[in-house]
Amino acid sequence: MSDPRTPTADRVGELTDRLAAVRERVAEACRAAGRDPSEVGLLAVTKTIPAADVAALVDLGLDAFAENRAQEAASKVDEVRALRPDASPDWFFVGGLQRNKVRTVLPWVTRIDSVDSPRLARAIDKEVAKARDAGERGGPLPVLVQYSVDGDADRGGVAPEGLVELTDLVTELPGLELAGLMAVAPLGWEPDAAFERIAEAHRETVGRHPGATVLSAGMSGDLESAIGHGSTVVRVGTALVGDRRIASE
Ligand SMILES: *Cc1c(COP(=O)(O)O)cnc(C)c1O
Repeated sequence: MSDPRTPTADRVGELTDRLAAVRERVAEACRAAGRDPSEVGLLAVTKTIPAADVAALVDLGLDAFAENRAQEAASKVDEVRALRPDASPDWFFVGGLQRNKVRTVLPWVTRIDSVDSPRLARAIDKEVAKARDAGERGGPLPVLVQYSVDGDADRGGVAPEGLVELTDLVTELPGLELAGLMAVAPLGWEPDAAFERIAEAHRETVGRHPGATVLSAGMSGDLESAIGHGSTVVRVGTALVGDRRIASE
């Protein structure tokens, strides 16, 4: 696997154009919804691309990246740090997380966005306490609870009937801080119908836990609809990076 410090000029040009197009889509969706573009953060999902591409995105001004596999992420974060030592982007974890992988994620993660069970929440809390005892971490770790509007547990997310219990638990665990919800529009659903229900669940959550202001919803294919329903973070992969894959995958 070649690992140049920067991608080819062609690739940098492609990333530049794609980023401009994504920013324009976000801006246009905000205009249509009467929202200020500063209300909607852009989280670049870099799970399929090499560290050098991420470094190029850092050069283009992005500072928030998301990964969905603990192992791939840990080494990529290190590589990006080596490539751009002066940058300190935020890294988010958005994938299914096994409890025994929490330890792999904790050293680099800014926020875990895919907390979808009481067992996982407790496992994170335990690791945060260990890291605190070891002097490696200070305060609680911000997390999002991943919400599954159709209750399909196979694709991650807590089912609607479990949402209150899980968000209440997260606010009770000393090592965690509930920052909000993450959700995906289920396959086969009209995005508007899905994001309306998701926004409703988010409003209810904020009603119980006023600090849970983040709503991470919307991806390459449906970010306009999500922004129209109040999303505060869009997670964009394909539209930003293309469908390139890391050579080893
Ligand atoms: C891959 C992924 C995305 C990005 O999806 P695209 O359709 O490529 O924009 C967003 N959220 C999660 C949780 C993902 O795994």
